[in-house]
Amino acid sequence: MNQDTKQREKTSLRKRGYPPRALHFSLEQSGRLTALRNSAEHTRELASALKIGQSLFDSSCALSVLQDHVKQALAGEAVASTVQIGDDLFHVWLTPVQNDSSIIGVSGGCIADQEIAQPLPAEHLLDYQLISEYSSDIITKYDLQGICTYVSPSIERVLGYKPEEIIGQSVFDYFHPNDLKTKRRLFRRLLDGEADDPVCYRIRRKDDTYVWLETVSKPIREPLARQGREIITVSRDITRRKETEERLLRLANFDSLTRLPNRALFRDRLRRAISRAQRNKTRLALLFLDLDRFKNINDSLGHHAGDQLLRGVAKRLTQNARKGDTVARLGGDEFTVILENIHTPDDASLVANKILELMEPPFRLDGHELVVSPSIGITLYPDDAEDMRSLLKNADTAMYRSKEKGGNRYQFYTEGMNARAYEHLVLESNLRHALERDQFELYFQPQIDLHTHGIIGIEALIRWNHPERGFLSPDKFVPFAEETGLIIPIGEWALNNACLEAKRWQENGLPPVRIAVNLSMRQFRQKMFVDLVANALSNSELDPHLLELEITESFLAQNVDQATKVLRQLHELGVQLSVDDFGTGYSSLSYLKRFPLNTLKIDQSFVKDLDSGPQGATIAEAIIALGKSLNLNIIAEGVETEEQVFFLKSRGCDRVQGYFVSPPMCASDMLRWLKDNRSRRILFEQEALWPEQADSR
Ligand code: C2E
Ligand code: MG
Ligand code: MG
Repeated sequence: MNQDTKQREKTSLRKRGYPPRALHFSLEQSGRLTALRNSAEHTRELASALKIGQSLFDSSCALSVLQDHVKQALAGEAVASTVQIGDDLFHVWLTPVQNDSSIIGVSGGCIADQEIAQPLPAEHLLDYQLISEYSSDIITKYDLQGICTYVSPSIERVLGYKPEEIIGQSVFDYFHPNDLKTKRRLFRRLLDGEADDPVCYRIRRKDDTYVWLETVSKPIREPLARQGREIITVSRDITRRKETEERLLRLANFDSLTRLPNRALFRDRLRRAISRAQRNKTRLALLFLDLDRFKNINDSLGHHAGDQLLRGVAKRLTQNARKGDTVARLGGDEFTVILENIHTPDDASLVANKILELMEPPFRLDGHELVVSPSIGITLYPDDAEDMRSLLKNADTAMYRSKEKGGNRYQFYTEGMNARAYEHLVLESNLRHALERDQFELYFQPQIDLHTHGIIGIEALIRWNHPERGFLSPDKFVPFAEETGLIIPIGEWALNNACLEAKRWQENGLPPVRIAVNLSMRQFRQKMFVDLVANALSNSELDPHLLELEITESFLAQNVDQATKVLRQLHELGVQLSVDDFGTGYSSLSYLKRFPLNTLKIDQSFVKDLDSGPQGATIAEAIIALGKSLNLNIIAEGVETEEQVFFLKSRGCDRVQGYFVSPPMCASDMLRWLKDNRSRRILFEQEALWPEQADSR
């Protein structure tokens, strides 16, 4: 390239605006100007007032208005600003200059506002026209009233209108009614000369459907004028993206099973409701709802039925809701309702009662008719708490209280409940350490045969020696341990130690005696449960026939297939199987035949009822008859009085366990008791009271 062509090229580049028409400069850290280069008409005067070596921090410097901006840049920030120097406006930018990690100076530039506002040379106009005509985006120009003065042909492809149908029309006639207000506000800001971030809104197509557009707008101003003269916009069809966004939003905020708001949206709604109540000084109620025994339904009828039920519950709840109330599903069988603007707590009771009523009619699922009841906890803002977390916690605590009271009811939160909940929490954490701290102990209660006077077995009953609360009976901690899963290691401990103890009695020269161990449902459901039992037997070298496992009736009823399989394996191992608390489950009796059982234990409540006359005796009699017909042993639990012994014996139930024989004892007492062979002595004494019974034997 010869010198001449180079020069021509340069001139042509300059005409097109390259390099940018600006004044460029560099400064040292001290503010001293080290370089200056001006390439624009409107900054020439400013450039000639500056000198290399002059400090910008010097008040006589023509750029001294930039002192604060330079300090900012020296602190590491990139700065862009508009400043007035003399009568002119300049747009300034400054960037820190770095050497390794330290800032050694600033480089920057300034461009006169007039320079920007200068009309474009004719060749540029042509370029822009071409871009506009061929762009897939819609390019539009409006005047100050929102009347379209130009639109690119791409509008026809996106919105169906020909440009001539739109030019001369008001842009506001095409907005979706819901977006109109926002758009008017933005338009006003644009006219005031403020640049606009991209905005999304819906606009009506020619076929009356709506399309989502994303638009960037720029005001076109007269040089130095504050108000814009026109607005130019570039809009892109984002309907697809918007639909995907909406789908994602739905997924993120709504529960796919019931279509109710999910936990995330619920929290958001509650937060807003609290702010509204705070602002308007109103009251709101939060209802927390959990279905009673939902797990049983899921386990016995399957997840499909469970899902159908949850959908049914959601439907009934939304039917009941007022406009503006939020019904949400937090997960599982937990639902919440936010009631805004309630006047008194009674308003919340009214809704809770209505919900209980609505749930009464049975749900029809897969041919089953199912009755389900909820437990509801209620808390009030601002009466009980003022923040979201506490309100949720309160409602949950109150819900648990309804459950404890038997379910199918509602309960308002009270302060005392928190203390209880705290106590539960402490107990749970103590329970976690109880095993490693060796705080459990087994107690033993003998079972005797009224015929032979001999001991037929001993039940192992766990106790927790709590460091502060003393001896705790299983009722105080087993339900907890079951809830938290801690029952698995605790139950395993009880099983192993019971077997070892039974073996120790033999090692003390006593005749072999069977040990009965209580099992919880969760232990039984463990995959390796049969192996655990086999291990306990081999560790202790106890004969499998000397181990009896007590299972609850409700477990058998709810898990027929699994129970059959596991019970058969245990039976094959040689262990004995009994059904504890028999008569309290709500199952049909037909299943009993399917399992390889040995013993039914009549629940102590029926034994107690024996004292209340013939009515109370009927159930005990029926259980005895049933057991006999199935060839099972029957043992009565909780036998306390001579009258009970007398009655049971007269009906053919010869085996008893209870305070009448002995309360549960610690291991050393049990050993002594066995050595004394106390059972024979007790019966001997009692028989003297009933000569006719002794005769009939
Ligand atoms: P359960 O198996 O039905 O045990 C009988 C309960 O009745 C025992 O209560 C026993 O102390 C009590 N009892 C015995 N004779 C009489 C009597 O004449 N009158 C009265 N009123 N009560 C009597 P305990 O020891 O408090 O155990 C309660 C329950 O805790 C047991 O009921 C059992 O279901 C459970 N349990 C005990 N130990 C364990 C264990 O190691 N694992 C599991 N999973 N549960 C256990
Ligand atoms: Mg038991
Ligand atoms: Mg029992």
